[in-house]
Amino acid sequence: MKELLPGLYLLPVPIPYPLKTVNLYLLKGKGEVALVDSALATRTARGTLELYLAELGLCFADVNVLLLTHHHPDHYGLGGVFEGLGARVYLHEEEFARGHRFWLEPEAFEEASWRLFLDHGTPEEALLGIRETMAKTRERVHPPRRPVPLKDGEVLEVAGRRLRALWTPGHADGHVAFYLEEEEVLLAGDALLERVSPNVGLWAYTRENPLKDFLASLKRLAELPIRVAHAGHFGPIGDVRQRAEELKAHHEARLKALLALLDHPQDAWSLSLKLFPQELDPAGRRFAFAETLAHLEYLRQEGLLLREGPPFRYLRA
Ligand SMILES: [Zn+2]
Ligand SMILES: [Zn+2]
Repeated sequence: MKELLPGLYLLPVPIPYPLKTVNLYLLKGKGEVALVDSALATRTARGTLELYLAELGLCFADVNVLLLTHHHPDHYGLGGVFEGLGARVYLHEEEFARGHRFWLEPEAFEEASWRLFLDHGTPEEALLGIRETMAKTRERVHPPRRPVPLKDGEVLEVAGRRLRALWTPGHADGHVAFYLEEEEVLLAGDALLERVSPNVGLWAYTRENPLKDFLASLKRLAELPIRVAHAGHFGPIGDVRQRAEELKAHHEARLKALLALLDHPQDAWSLSLKLFPQELDPAGRRFAFAETLAHLEYLRQEGLLLREGPPFRYLRA
């Protein structure tokens, strides 16, 4: 745990995913305690979080406000637990219709995901185990039942600080970053990360052009006065403008590589194998597929590609 500013703490919590750790942020002041993100319900994550809170003389029930950046399990998983103990939970309004519902109506979403994968050339054996993986994740996720919808630009006064909610879709449709305007500090969630490019995927339930959303979010953040961004994983980002440029360049290179691969019509699954030729576990493969599909749909919606099917295949316009 680290105190970043008086009353603003960084709480790194272990997660059973490749990124290893999720960063939560705790604000304490004026008799109020707020958490930004919640980790998920593994024994290790809960235990770590309990220890951090105890160091500050607090327990789970002392958290009055929980601000969720997005619905991914490592950020959102304990949402319902804090809500059950009396916390007010905030979530962006766009997340209500999509990411949040993903946890509330899993069967409908699994059905739609299955169809999307198959329509885009995914072989059935690549989907083996997907239901089991999802069931395991759901055991670790407690969705909040009555979250309060957040609107873009809304200012919250919590724990003696003013935080502006910035809708920054792309990595998740209803992703928000929390901006402490006075301090010029951004609690960035997964909108930009120090060491890796945040996954931008098109899934069965996402908005139609997540990469376009993501690039617009980067641009928006790059234009703000930000001294430092504290993100959902890894270390702080001192130069947001430069990091945004790097991430944009990374996606532009990938778009170019895809166009170069499309000398004949191909489906998204086979293109994802060429774009991400490295060895990946089944979950990693599905992320690679969703990321490839987001890039293909970006190019299609820019008029550079055509799509035929289903089953869908892409070709240069
Ligand atoms: Zn995420
Ligand atoms: Zn994350």
